[in-house]
Amino acid sequence: MPKRRPVAKRAAAAAPGGPGPVRVTRRVHFNAAHRLYNPAFGKDWNRRQYGPCANPNSHGHNYVVEVTVSGRPDPDSGFTFDLGKLKRILQRSVVDPCDHRNLNEDVPFLKGVIPTAENLAVAFWAEIAPRIRTGRLHCVRLYETPRNFVEYFGPETDPE
Ligand SMILES: [Zn+2]
Repeated sequence: MPKRRPVAKRAAAAAPGGPGPVRVTRRVHFNAAHRLYNPAFGKDWNRRQYGPCANPNSHGHNYVVEVTVSGRPDPDSGFTFDLGKLKRILQRSVVDPCDHRNLNEDVPFLKGVIPTAENLAVAFWAEIAPRIRTGRLHCVRLYETPRNFVEYFGPETDPE
């Protein structure tokens, strides 16, 4: 049989500058309780702002987190980022600390954070990004309900 070149090499040969980045995504779930309440303001402000989400005894969500890494596929492995490795990173940095927890009380890296979906996405980014050493973290998408989600694309970078 004739020897065939690996797909990535053939694709690269087809594009003069080589292939562009390919994004890979892993989805994880966790269940957690939270309460939206800003202690800098009074009960009425919090009630107006957050409605029943400010109720004192918390409530729960089935959170879904989708994390995307962007990069050029490695010519040897064909992977942008090993999804098995991404699974383990997300388990350690998000699922293990948050699953079946109260996000206001139990998670050290959320201390002092009002656990809105926006703030959670930013906090998860900070936990995940240092562990991504191949390619770069592109997006943290967090679903608080099947219809409500937020996306975070990382901190502002200083213009050069
Ligand atoms: Zn809620």
